[in-house]
Amino acid sequence: MKYISTRGGGSPQSFEEVLLTGLAKDGGLFVPEALPEISVAQMESWRGLNYAELALEIIPPFIEDAIPAQELRQIIESSYAAFDHPEVAPLTQLGENEYLLELFHGPTLAFKDFALQVLGRMLDYVLKKRQQRVVILGATSGDTGSAALEGCRHSDYVDIFILHPYQRVSDVQRKQMTTVPGDNVFNLAVEGNFDDCQRIVKAAFADQSFLPTGQQLVAVNSINWARILMQIVYYFYAALKLGAPQKRVSFSVPTGNFGDIYAGYLAKGMGLPVDRLVVATNKNDILHRFISSNEYSVAELSKTYSPSMDILVSSNFERYLFDLFGRDGEALAEFMSRFGSETLSVSAEQWQSVKDCFDSASVDDVTTCEVIAQVFTQYGKLMDPHTAVGLKSARDCRKDGETPMIVLATAHPAKFADAIAAAGLQEPELPPHLRDLFEREERYTVVANDLHEVTGFIEAHLQHH
Ligand SMILES: *Cc1c(COP(=O)(O)O)cnc(C)c1O
Repeated sequence: MKYISTRGGGSPQSFEEVLLTGLAKDGGLFVPEALPEISVAQMESWRGLNYAELALEIIPPFIEDAIPAQELRQIIESSYAAFDHPEVAPLTQLGENEYLLELFHGPTLAFKDFALQVLGRMLDYVLKKRQQRVVILGATSGDTGSAALEGCRHSDYVDIFILHPYQRVSDVQRKQMTTVPGDNVFNLAVEGNFDDCQRIVKAAFADQSFLPTGQQLVAVNSINWARILMQIVYYFYAALKLGAPQKRVSFSVPTGNFGDIYAGYLAKGMGLPVDRLVVATNKNDILHRFISSNEYSVAELSKTYSPSMDILVSSNFERYLFDLFGRDGEALAEFMSRFGSETLSVSAEQWQSVKDCFDSASVDDVTTCEVIAQVFTQYGKLMDPHTAVGLKSARDCRKDGETPMIVLATAHPAKFADAIAAAGLQEPELPPHLRDLFEREERYTVVANDLHEVTGFIEAHLQHH
């Protein structure tokens, strides 16, 4: 399988090439040339597989010979063995035909572990084969940073630099990043906000001349295709448990960069009988405004109790728009060139096609806390604020009570203690492996909000290797 850019430029690339980069050269994102089609019989034969076994059915067509079968098995099995629940992604029921898919049993307590545990090991395999070193550079508003550090720190072939906005991430999130040991691991606290961090990362990717010859930057945010790929698996896993392929299911997905829900859209495209995909947003509702009223425009950033969804623009939405534009990269490039300066809309036919697949909602902080409290009272279950946004959106969008609705529970509530406290509930305990988090030694460097400070730091610290 080859990968092409959403902006139509360049030649098709292999999985390995796509894994080791970020954006395509023309500024687009990589998508598969075509999706594998999964037959009903094939899906039936997958029922009853454990999580790693199912991943080993779904992933190989996407990576072909980049990683041989035996090594892939090793990578996937060890990745999911690091999870603290035997089912990896357990499904629990709330109301009638209403389920939570718990995606927070990995080492850093958010769904990002599903992809980043594997991504780190894949990089290690591929880089060892090529005898190449790379530099991972990423910006985080919280969960990506710790998951990337945890997934990649064991690699002998990477140096990893993660930028977070100084004093603007939660204490648990900061501690999770800054206490990761390893002399190839660097945390930079930028005196600015998350957008500043992202701007610096983007600029560094655009001009990598500060790196030693032969080195390149690799992205760990969800523009990296491998992250999307690994998230396809749990849509199949959950649906098969609830009766697919004979039965249809719907998903509600707390959405920021549209990476997680895009994986659900791909699962549907591969043949999984998905009825509705609910795009659940907080006050940062660019996607809800587009889906409900065909207006695609940037708004002001709001700080909410669900910070991992506090984004202005959902980078992966471009991957979906590419399909919506009939995979016409030039037309999409033209559309995107006007984005930001004006309010965009798509044709009536295209908008209908959006609505045929997606529902959407926007949930404010007050309601988020009410839902957390209500679910705790009714079911004795403590949800994190992102999951609460997902559940409320699911309930708002639901048209029939028959089709099972699966809400993706994207984080463990202990990561977001302030929202839990605001809901009037007692702060949850961290799981055993993180209980001493606040006693661990922190390492990070505060840097100015300046590209050259960051690239200079990277340059200086690479020289020690
Ligand atoms: C990253 C994250 C999201 C948003 O996922 P996207 O793929 O960016 O849409 C939602 N919830 C939590 C807890 C996250 O960490």
